[in-house]
Amino acid sequence: MNPPEYNITGLDYAQRSHFRYAGPLIDVHSHITTTELNESTSGFPGGAGRAGSLAQAETQLAVARTFGIARTYTMCPPQDIPPLRERFGSLLGFNGPVHKEPDEPNDVAYRVLDQFLEQGVEIIKFWGPPRMSAAGQPVDAPWRLEVVRRARMAGVKVFMLHVSDPDAWFETAYTDILRYGTKQEHYYGLHLLLRMFPDVHWIGAHLAGDPEHPEHLEELLELYPNLYFDTSATKWQVREVSRQRDAIRRLVCKHPTRFLFGVDLLTRHTQVREHYISRYWCQRTLWESDWDGHSPIADGDYRPKPGEPPQVQLRGLGLPEEVLWQVYHDNVLRLFTRRRP
Ligand SMILES: [Zn+2]
Repeated sequence: MNPPEYNITGLDYAQRSHFRYAGPLIDVHSHITTTELNESTSGFPGGAGRAGSLAQAETQLAVARTFGIARTYTMCPPQDIPPLRERFGSLLGFNGPVHKEPDEPNDVAYRVLDQFLEQGVEIIKFWGPPRMSAAGQPVDAPWRLEVVRRARMAGVKVFMLHVSDPDAWFETAYTDILRYGTKQEHYYGLHLLLRMFPDVHWIGAHLAGDPEHPEHLEELLELYPNLYFDTSATKWQVREVSRQRDAIRRLVCKHPTRFLFGVDLLTRHTQVREHYISRYWCQRTLWESDWDGHSPIADGDYRPKPGEPPQVQLRGLGLPEEVLWQVYHDNVLRLFTRRRP
């Protein structure tokens, strides 16, 4: 029998004595939703609203608590917010993913935005990976610009942007350059949004989609004082941050106010508890410890480069405690309390 994806090395996740940080954490990137038996497992999670189950949300948040997570910002459809808020109160903050299909009119996106604004979301998220650009919706599509204008008018100060995707995908799924463009090209839209809206805060999801290139991340941080990166997409970050451990460590220590802890877990109706445990365990191990060994989570995107071992290595950065406080907790609070930049 194959080992489960959440533990291919038979690791004991109760081993946590290497964790160095004893304070609270805030997870700024999660997808805790209601779930239902017949949900689609592709596409956006959640949406069953009051008819859905909160059992998976309960499980994820219970696991989160054992890792010190005090608050989680979740992306869920608008109808999931009331039941989640009633059950979990201040454990959750809300991030509204505004999305529409390429063939839908812009009004669809504006109506979704209105629903999120009625629910008092604190963040608006745009999902603009290469497959969306290829379908005619680049990250800076006109409807997204209008959504920023409207949300900003309504008082939203923080926006999250998924731009680009792993280098590994450009070597496999996105090799048709005419259709998907180069990885670098996907950042034109990010530059445009950040230049057009310098008076709000921007979070580049998944280390702005480019943990493979710390020098590019540094350039972005230096160009835009209102840009932050979240550490989410655990499998991807474990693989690439470990490869570049020293460079990423230097970058975080140089800009400790610009990184935000995030995991990118999704609740799914049939998910097992150990899956949630594995992602929190790997995130904390990566950032705060000097743990060095085979990563316990399966990663189908890993192609060893010359000289690399056959399995992904997780190589902890061992960030200093004062940096951890900022990345794990203080920075995200400052985003919401600080006046616009
Ligand atoms: Zn996500």
